[in-house]
Amino acid sequence: MKRLVILGGGESGVGTALLGKEKGYDVFVSDKGEIKERYKQVLIHNEIEFEEGQHSEGLILTADLIMKSPGIPNHVAIIQQIKDQDIKIVSEIEFAASYTDATLIAITGSNGKTTTSSLTHHILKQELNVGLAGNIGDSFANQIVEKGFENYVLEVSSFQLDDIDEFKPKIAVLLNITPDHLDRYNNVFENYVKAKFRIAENQSEDDYFIYDADDPVITNWLRQFPIQSTLLPFSLIHPIENGAYLDNEHIKITIDNNQIIMPTANLALEGKHNIKNAMAASTVAHLLKIRKQTIRESLENFQGVEHRLEHVLKINKVQYINDSKATNVNATYFALESMDAPTVWIVGGEDKGNDYRELFPFVNEKVKAIICLGVDNEKLMKNFASMVDVIVETQFMSEAVKIAYKIAESGENVLLSPACASFDLFDNYEDRGRQFKDAVRNL
Ligand code: ADP
Repeated sequence: MKRLVILGGGESGVGTALLGKEKGYDVFVSDKGEIKERYKQVLIHNEIEFEEGQHSEGLILTADLIMKSPGIPNHVAIIQQIKDQDIKIVSEIEFAASYTDATLIAITGSNGKTTTSSLTHHILKQELNVGLAGNIGDSFANQIVEKGFENYVLEVSSFQLDDIDEFKPKIAVLLNITPDHLDRYNNVFENYVKAKFRIAENQSEDDYFIYDADDPVITNWLRQFPIQSTLLPFSLIHPIENGAYLDNEHIKITIDNNQIIMPTANLALEGKHNIKNAMAASTVAHLLKIRKQTIRESLENFQGVEHRLEHVLKINKVQYINDSKATNVNATYFALESMDAPTVWIVGGEDKGNDYRELFPFVNEKVKAIICLGVDNEKLMKNFASMVDVIVETQFMSEAVKIAYKIAESGENVLLSPACASFDLFDNYEDRGRQFKDAVRNL
């Protein structure tokens, strides 16, 4: 019996444990931290051995195969030991994909993965038997055991891609590449770009690669390192013969001379970035032969994803918008870009080395007041104090929202789009977003 050791007892770890057990492995789960109670129950119920609070070398280095959860960085001691012993390490998507014949649609990028994966799934599910997995909801491995879908839309992070070997999606989507998580890539941007492009490394010409042709990082890389896949670019700027582009407020997607045209005015999601996301999702759907009418309707009635430019409430004709998931400058760029009225902007948190300069034009043009919500707001103050009449600091969400309420006037927006991580004041971005919404509802 081959021994499968799983590092990390979270969603992907426990899913992999179930799949490994079903496939006849001797499975062991090891987590350096605490395993959540509900996952422990699943492991116990399925008679899968595990440990928590430690990594016991004797139980781990006997493995034939290791599944490393995406959250564990490469530099930790146990990973080095595993590498020294030449034991193969795979990620959950690599392991799980080898046990399904389903059509795989893998979506990656620095920003927009969850939105685009959810939107793609929303369109496809109207006509296909399709699961949504990866960083969202139930793990891919778990769904293979429990559901057995014929198609999967996978939200794939660069960490998942770091440990692939044969993973070969039928359709790969690369939304954009901007600096993020560089700490995990020795602070070398190229390493991160390379990790993202691994999504296509096993693709052949029968597979498709959908990407943003307006993103210079992507196009330069493709020029230097051509890939086998059939390319289907999308662009907001220039016409695309095979792929998608924006023409006079209409999205036009052509695949093998078959064209679909959709007005952007009807899209449920606002903002230029969401036009890109819609192009990517509908190109996937068009490839998989979803009816044009279905694609149009799905784009119109998509409900959006929580914490991504989520419209919370209108109070006294002021629109409150929760974009708590904007944890980097690029995401906030698109949030500010999409503001169509003077905006009170709530920003701040744990700064990951942000360069705020690309936001300056939007702040000058659209932002009437700034509320800094972080433990350390000095950098924000320095960057933005000269651009707005009002800039204030607070460490409490309820206070931030109350101040915004006082400043915003009829027809204006209050936008929470922090451009920073949330961990200085909140548990995570979801907690931050929920606190914002609660505060708005309590006004
Ligand atoms: P991810 O899953 O990659 O983190 P999300 O869909 O959760 O992406 O969105 C994260 C943030 O990025 C949100 O603030 C969202 O409004 C913004 N965003 C969404 N799509 C894009 C895009 N294509 N380009 C830039 N920012 C985007």
